[in-house]
Amino acid sequence: MDAYAGYYFEGKKVKESSSGGAATAIAEEVIKRGGIVYGAAYSKDFYSATYERAENEDELQKFKGSKYVYVNKVLIKDGEAVSVYKDAISELNHGRTILFTGLGCDITALKIFAEKEGVDTDKLFTIELLCDGVTNEIVHQEYVSNIEKIYDSKVIAFSVRYKKEGWIPLYIYAGFENGKEHIQPFYGSDYGFAFLNYKRKCCYDCKFKEHRGDLMVADYWGCRPGMDEYNQNGVSLIFVQNEKGNKLLDYLNRKQFFLKRTNTDYALYYSPRYYTSHERYPQWYTFDKIIREKGLREAVKKCAAITMPERFNGKKINEIILWGAGKCFHQYISVLREMFLISCVIDSNENNWGKELEFGIICQSPDVLKDKKNIVVLITIQNISSAFQVANKLLDM
Ligand SMILES: Cc1cc2nc3c(=O)[nH]c(=O)nc-3n(C[C@H](O)[C@H](O)[C@H](O)COP(=O)(O)OP(=O)(O)OC[C@H]3O[C@@H](n4cnc5c(N)ncnc54)[C@H](O)[C@@H]3O)c2cc1C
Ligand code: SF4
Repeated sequence: MDAYAGYYFEGKKVKESSSGGAATAIAEEVIKRGGIVYGAAYSKDFYSATYERAENEDELQKFKGSKYVYVNKVLIKDGEAVSVYKDAISELNHGRTILFTGLGCDITALKIFAEKEGVDTDKLFTIELLCDGVTNEIVHQEYVSNIEKIYDSKVIAFSVRYKKEGWIPLYIYAGFENGKEHIQPFYGSDYGFAFLNYKRKCCYDCKFKEHRGDLMVADYWGCRPGMDEYNQNGVSLIFVQNEKGNKLLDYLNRKQFFLKRTNTDYALYYSPRYYTSHERYPQWYTFDKIIREKGLREAVKKCAAITMPERFNGKKINEIILWGAGKCFHQYISVLREMFLISCVIDSNENNWGKELEFGIICQSPDVLKDKKNIVVLITIQNISSAFQVANKLLDM
């Protein structure tokens, strides 16, 4: 399997997308050639996510950015709810070219449906996103409703992949009718906690790792400064799964999109979800019970005792960060994550950057500390002299 790294040359376009914008760049070309693109968008009130279709570039805007919540497989057409799979099949039957973007389960469902209906799939192209699982709709609904109460206004823009300082760390962004903005580190938020620990049950034993998409697109977490492929605003990792995937790759306009072959084994090493499902959180049932009875905030509070915003020695803190991804981290992470809502883990060893540690946590470079204020850094390093070195570095910052 060939692997490629890529991103839009135009900074604004990379920033609007989750990784490097490969899914959008290909979709734009499909539209230019008269095709229809199916993708995931938030509903108008931002309380849920659903499939929609796009036939012009403006309509593609709503698909940009990963939706980490379950996406309804129904779209509204002429005022009526229609299965997205049925709609795509009907358009194929009318001779239209279709690009269907989705997770492994979505692509498999569409292909099984097409086989059952005996449809000619020559004009069907698919982009599959590498998938770590989605959280339940209740998490998304509650999060949006909670921030609407705090800001006393309706949400009019929302993203879980806002690139405040670049590709990583991930931030949540919400814009409100009253002009206010809410920006929060994703993994330090109730939403991020739930995305890591409270996925849909079926995602812990995902049956869709055969990857039937023509192209697979992912975040190239293994790509780091110094590599030719690196872009600080995000890099897409693209796996070509079959001949149609090669065709889709040719759709990328090289004047607008940087594309370079990358080492497949290396890329796969940093993409563990290609083969395996996310490990189930031991307190899943506790979280499930509390969220249903008392809501998201209470469920997170119960499962991560110290959450944000909280106070340490009377001072308000915005984030709790771990420094050290070695033995000590692995030994104590199960306990630590039940005590603190950890927003990220950093390490001095650059070989660890981009690597998925336990529970889906991705290790980052200490550079993420730049410009951060009111943070608590817990040093998870066993060797005392190394821990002191880190403490001194922190004092110098
Ligand atoms: C739930 C989820 C889990 C993921 N887990 C991983 C992971 O573990 N490792 C990894 O490397 N990458 C993962 N990804 C993929 C990654 O986040 C990016 O979506 C991918 O790199 C595409 O980025 P892009 O810049 O090309 O897409 P963009 O240009 O931002 O376009 C986003 C595309 O994704 C589609 N989309 C977004 N959310 C959904 C959804 N929930 N269901 C169906 N289609 C959707 C949109 O329709 C659009 O086509 C995950 C994505 C999702 C949605
Ligand atoms: S983990 Fe598997 S079942 Fe869950 S959303 Fe992703 S592809 Fe679908």
